[in-house]
Amino acid sequence: MPRVYNWQIGREMEYPFEAARPLRQAAAVFDINKCIACQTCTMACKTTWTSGRGQEYMFWNNVETKPWGSYPLAWDVRILQMLGPQTWQGDRYTGKTIFEAAPLGEKAIGYLPEDLDYAYPNRGEDEISDASIGQRFYLRLPHDAWFFYLPRICNHCTYPACLGSCPRTAIYKRPEDGIVLVDQERCRGYRECVKNCPYKKVFYNHVTRVAEKCVLCYPAVERGIQPRCMRNCIGKIRTFGFVNTPDKADPENPVDFLVHVRKVALPLLPQLGLEPNVYYIPPVHVGNLDFLRMLFGPGVDNAIAAYRRAMAGEDPELVGVLMLAVSTDRIVHRFRVRDGYAYGYGEDGSELVRVPLKEPVTVRQFYDSLVGAYRYNVT
Ligand code: SF4
Ligand code: SF4
Repeated sequence: MPRVYNWQIGREMEYPFEAARPLRQAAAVFDINKCIACQTCTMACKTTWTSGRGQEYMFWNNVETKPWGSYPLAWDVRILQMLGPQTWQGDRYTGKTIFEAAPLGEKAIGYLPEDLDYAYPNRGEDEISDASIGQRFYLRLPHDAWFFYLPRICNHCTYPACLGSCPRTAIYKRPEDGIVLVDQERCRGYRECVKNCPYKKVFYNHVTRVAEKCVLCYPAVERGIQPRCMRNCIGKIRTFGFVNTPDKADPENPVDFLVHVRKVALPLLPQLGLEPNVYYIPPVHVGNLDFLRMLFGPGVDNAIAAYRRAMAGEDPELVGVLMLAVSTDRIVHRFRVRDGYAYGYGEDGSELVRVPLKEPVTVRQFYDSLVGAYRYNVT
């Protein structure tokens, strides 16, 4: 197999194809600390793309509760068990990726979920990590008992296992934006992609008998508009844009700033070796840091410290870029923070949006003499 460089694991690795990075790579950052599992993203996607026959069980966007939730059933536990020991030396991953662990004749390790594995998308929802809370329990940070929500879409990986395993080369990665698509004319429904995507974000349509997956709302992205799941996010947790490799990081690009400059946003299961392009700001309240390190790699401690500094008011730039999330339907290519405001700019440099770092609070008089009514302040 050719050797390619994967910056998320700090080394070269084997991949079925030569490295071919797109001209630019679409990417997103999800701030897990703000997700409320309202599932608006799930339904925005469902009603846009997967309301047809054969798509009933599909959620291209889903939100699962960690540690117990998963869709399809136990997708993460199963692939991590198959992979075996996962070791890091600093930022360098010294274990095997799913490509390197593949048995002879296979492109990657993987498994094909059964139909029933998709039947429990809400499994484990809102269940805490440890049900055996003792007496005199009280909450402190980080929490002894915890859970958090993990919204998931296709990661439009730099080294997609779905693409790498397709015997028909029916899956392709667009050079202009890195979006990974299935050519349904070429697909014959062999389901090698379903088997080998470790994130289980390719689905088989039993009616049309071809594979289907998240298209990252490419018709919108081509017009400079964010995907549906991003712009409908109620918790405003999602920053959408384009990510560069670390050596070309642009500190004025919101995604680069979060991923490379502040290093507050981390890939999901980087040890699998796909260089996924959805990044997560890890939850700061979780007591079990080993669980977070397993999920997001060795950058967890730094990311949590950076996020806490911002919440303590010590990093207005980081607060500013987070405040810009879901503040406009357009894709923000550059940002700037000054004089108490965060500004977002489009590709042509024009101002798209400005957001105050501190939202103004108005306290109303209890008795409004103008209309003769009593009013409550709701915060
Ligand atoms: S997450 Fe899965 S479906 Fe999406 S690009 Fe990566 S390997 Fe392919
Ligand atoms: S819409 Fe946003 S806040 Fe609601 S579940 Fe989805 S990611 Fe979380």
